[in-house]
This record gives sequence, C-alpha cells and structure tokens, in this order.
Amino acid sequence: MTERAYLDWNATAPLRPQARAAMIAALDAVGNPSSVHAEGRAARHLVEAARDAVAALVGAEARNVVFTASGTEANMLVLSPRTGGGCARLLVSAIEHPSVRSGGRFAGAAVETVAVGSDGVINLALLEARLSALSQERVRPLLSVMLANNETGVIQPVSEAARLVHQAGGLLHVDAVQAAGRIPCDINALGADLMTLSGHKIGAPKGVGALIRRDAGLALDPLVTGGGQERRARAGTENVAGIVGFGAAAAVATADLATESARVRALRDRLEAGLRQATPAAVIFGAEASRLPNTTLFAAPAVKAETAIIAFDLEGVAVSSGAACSSGKVAPSHVLAAMGVLPPVARGAVRVSLGPTTSEADVERFLAAWIKVSGALLNKAKGIAA
Ligand code: PLP
Repeated sequence: MTERAYLDWNATAPLRPQARAAMIAALDAVGNPSSVHAEGRAARHLVEAARDAVAALVGAEARNVVFTASGTEANMLVLSPRTGGGCARLLVSAIEHPSVRSGGRFAGAAVETVAVGSDGVINLALLEARLSALSQERVRPLLSVMLANNETGVIQPVSEAARLVHQAGGLLHVDAVQAAGRIPCDINALGADLMTLSGHKIGAPKGVGALIRRDAGLALDPLVTGGGQERRARAGTENVAGIVGFGAAAAVATADLATESARVRALRDRLEAGLRQATPAAVIFGAEASRLPNTTLFAAPAVKAETAIIAFDLEGVAVSSGAACSSGKVAPSHVLAAMGVLPPVARGAVRVSLGPTTSEADVERFLAAWIKVSGALLNKAKGIAA
C-alpha cells in the first residue's frame, strides 16, 4: 500500500510522467516562439505540437486553440459581451464554477442563472422557455454550461443545450475542465461553439489552460492585450514549458480515455458499494444522474466535512469538502444549494475523486479510513468517548 492515498483529482491531478519529461526538455529551449531564428522556430515548433495534441483531445482544429494561464482565464476570456460579434445576455447554470458564475466581463444585470433539478442536471424546460423569450425580444444570448460538475461529477445535457441556444440565435460555451480526459469531449459532437480546458486537471502543470473555438471565424474579445501572440487572442510570450506539458498530458489522456474511464469507473463503483455497506444512511449526491466515472460526493449523518477531511488526512487519505474551499475557509456549496440540499446535510459533503494512478489499494484504504472516521464521529455525536 502506498504511503498516502491521493483522492482529490478534481482539485488537481498529479503531474503525468510524460508531461514532466517533455517539460524538462522544453525548459532548455532558449528561443522565444515569436522569433524567426532557429531557436525561436524550435520553441514555436514545441508550442504548435502541443496545440495539435490539445486540439485532438476535443476534436478541434489546432488553429482554434488559444493557450491561457488557467481555466479561469479561459472562462474570463470567453465571457464577454463582444464574443462572437456580440451577445447581450449571459445565461449560466446555477452550478457553474465561480469563474463562470461571476459573469466574466458581462455587467451584473446582463447575467441570468438557470436552475438545476435535485439530480444536479440543468432544467432544460426552464432554459428553453428563457431562450425563447429572449429570442422574441431579439436579445442574443451566450449560454455557459459545464460538461461535468466539479463537485458532484454530474454530466450536463450539453448537446440539447446547444440545440436550444442555437435555435435562439445564440452561442454555447462549455466549461469542460472536469470532463476532459474522463469522458469524450468532442467539440463538434457536443455542438459547443467554445470550450474551456485546464491543464492541471489532466496531469499537466498548474498555470496553463485553453479556450477552444469550433469555428475560426468566431470573434473573441482579448482579455490580455499587447503583443500579437495566440493569433491576437491572448498577448504575452507563451509559457512554452507549461504548454508542452499540457500537450503531453493531452496526448496520453486521448490515448487512454476508453481504458482509463472504464478502470476508474470500476474503482469508483467499488468505493460506493463499500461506502453504502458501511453506512447505509449515506447519501451520494447526483447518483440518479449520469456522472463522471471518477467522482463521488457523499454525506452521512453526524459527519461534518471539515472534521472528516482532517480525520481522513490523519489516516493518510486526501479527500476534499464538496464545498468551494478557498483560502482555507469552507463556504457552503452553491452546487448542493442549487440542488435543494439543506445546509445541515450539505455541510457534511465529502468529495472523493479518482484518477489514472488510483489503485484498488487506495480505495480499500479510503474505506478502512471511512469506517474508522465515521465510527468515531458518530460516537462523538452520541457523546460516547472513543
Ligand atoms: N472550471 C471548473 C469546472 C473547475 O473545476 C475549475 C477548477 O477547479 C476551473 C474551471 C478553473 O480552472 P483553473 O484552476 O485552471 O483556473
């Protein structure tokens, strides 16, 4: 058994060995990709090879990939009233990542939230009604719906959303940060006009992301201006080593997608079966919907997430709270709130997320730790000394 079980892949994935090796080689590339000399051309070649690999992960054309410094930046880049020649209204689902929910560069009054059901899936009937009202008012919408939720793993009906927003004359942006490398994310099959990816969720280094267009003709409104890099969509000398790591990770993710998703699903199913056996009263959020193969968000009576995560950590298991946890403060989860989960239950939500190096031993270690942790917390709640 390994020393620790890292089960927090939705927060960030360990660096893939292929990404590390490619980056180490790239760190010695001296050239600026914009320079015309041999050194510059060599750096350019590295960046363009990575662009090909990232494009292939989502079935896009390489020239439509814009590298950014994060998924967050890609979301900010795309969420502008000037995207695609102009959109007057931004519609976002209630469970989007904060970088989408904040509305990007849209004025607060131009941002609308679309509700999800108790299963964590966007309410398509409400979406359709809203889109047809906007279409009658001749207001062009930009809709942003994630392919899979970072807390629950619930997969959204993106193709249907694409059909509805296109009928209304609008555009669809899909945040595929959590879905990439775990389920197919073909930009054409999904009908997305724009898609966001983040390198560190697929085993690339932190600090590199991408915004991808389906159609090269779709206008972007640069967030970072200055030089003409990234076909004028994102100024600044490229993070060559980071981009190369992204490309290497994307290539492995593409090659391993089918086998890895089946392998991880089997591990996750074993984990959930063990969890239900140990704690029949445990709730697995979004279990009735289609979910990513690697994610379980659950809560159990008398278990507070903050306490459980620390107890798991002491047992050598890294998991996280389902709630957005920034600067060490656990905030109530907007995702669970949107699903109608009451605060006392939501406060107990623990997220377990698996990845390519997760083993059966890691799952067994998690289950052994859970039996210990939940037993101790239950006894504490009943006032029984451990
Ligand atoms: N979108 C989703 C769904 C995410 O889960 C995250 C990160 O957790 C992001 C966007 C932001 O990506 P990054 O960490 O690269 O800024």
